[in-house]
Amino acid sequence: MNAAEGTNYYFRKAARIMDVGERIETLLATPLREVKVQVSIELDSGEIRTFLGFRIQHDNSRGPMKGGLRFHPSLDQDEAVALASLMTWKTAVVNLPFGGAKGGITCDPSTMSLREIERLTRKFVDQIQDVIGPTRDIPAPDVNTNPQVMAWIMDQYSKYHGHSPAVVTGKPLDLYGSKGREAATGRGILYTCREILRDVGIPVKGTRFAVQGFGNVGSHSARLVHEDGGRLVAVSDVHGGVRNASGLDVAGLFEHVKRSGTVKGFGGGTPCTNEEVLCADCEVLIPAAMGNVLTKHVAPEVRARIIVEGANGPTDPEADEILEKRGVLVVPDILANAGGVTVSYFEWVQNMQHLTWDEERVNAELERTMKEAYERIATVSRTRKIPLRTAAFIVAIGRVGKATVLRGI
Ligand code: NAD
Repeated sequence: MNAAEGTNYYFRKAARIMDVGERIETLLATPLREVKVQVSIELDSGEIRTFLGFRIQHDNSRGPMKGGLRFHPSLDQDEAVALASLMTWKTAVVNLPFGGAKGGITCDPSTMSLREIERLTRKFVDQIQDVIGPTRDIPAPDVNTNPQVMAWIMDQYSKYHGHSPAVVTGKPLDLYGSKGREAATGRGILYTCREILRDVGIPVKGTRFAVQGFGNVGSHSARLVHEDGGRLVAVSDVHGGVRNASGLDVAGLFEHVKRSGTVKGFGGGTPCTNEEVLCADCEVLIPAAMGNVLTKHVAPEVRARIIVEGANGPTDPEADEILEKRGVLVVPDILANAGGVTVSYFEWVQNMQHLTWDEERVNAELERTMKEAYERIATVSRTRKIPLRTAAFIVAIGRVGKATVLRGI
């Protein structure tokens, strides 16, 4: 089952428990609008190349739609639809006044020059500028897009509509970006870990963590749980991993990654595989790399008591059931990694009000948002005796469904 089918499965499971009925279920599952555009540019060689771009707008009942743009060879319309719906549920879980969207261009930016990527981005904006906007749909970075790409989007959109910093988030700090955005997803994971550990009665201090993935989400999560007193016992990235049951020297690990670009080969522990990280002897596992890494083959071997999903869709439904039966608590992606979109919302708020917040305020508001979201979902999970994931979907579907009905269908 791919990530798209996984999202659909979890949505339908919760919708059926809620007994929303087939018609409302279909209404909520169907995207509001699917835009597919031709993006043709001249390459540096003078050759003309045509790419396909997508923007899927899933739901706007709670506010302007929000979601990333990814530049990747495997991106297609079906994947974008699933990711757009995931954004609708994620923004609703943390109660942001946004809906969900996703999109991007089917391309391989690793084979393109910076100027070609700029031309591609600007041409894409030409094609979708009439359906996005600060009060309609606000893109953000995703796989292979970054603050520079967001700056080009803002610039190109502003040529049509006047100065519009609030049309995208994840912009550079020197161009209306928000302080605290870079570490926001990892910080949200830290706040989530604190909440669930408090619920099960274990202090963060001394708790053993394993982290798969050492990019934006994984590295900030690892650093922040370590700063909170947690013991990092295993980490990995695409090249390999390293473990140390007494705790890795995190400062040394960061130095090693800075020098070599990977956690592999770090001298402060023994080498290990990615699967060994997923099955490490620890209290908390944070999968923060790819989708579908926890499958029915890996789930029986997981030794963590708690899984906090940093990546989108790391656990497939079969694994989810095995983990539930084994009593492993799973904090779902739509809650655990919502720190990024939450600080994107703060960036949009600052842009709309033409002011800037300091980092302390960003982090304090993020902490409040994550705590409230966790508390609401944990309460539904406790009272209905259902897993946190199903509770999160129930809360999200309830909020989106109510807004849809109140606005009038
Ligand atoms: P990134 O590109 O910065 O880092 C990805 C990390 O995963 C890298 O360390 C890479 O080496 C590792 N990796 C890749 N393939 C791997 C493999 N096969 N096995 C083990 N490790 C592998 O990406 P990111 O921004 O940190 O995103 C990671 C995940 O978190 C993705 O699923 C993303 O959708 C999700 N996410 C990111 C954010 C955000 O704000 N960046 C927000 C929400 C969700």
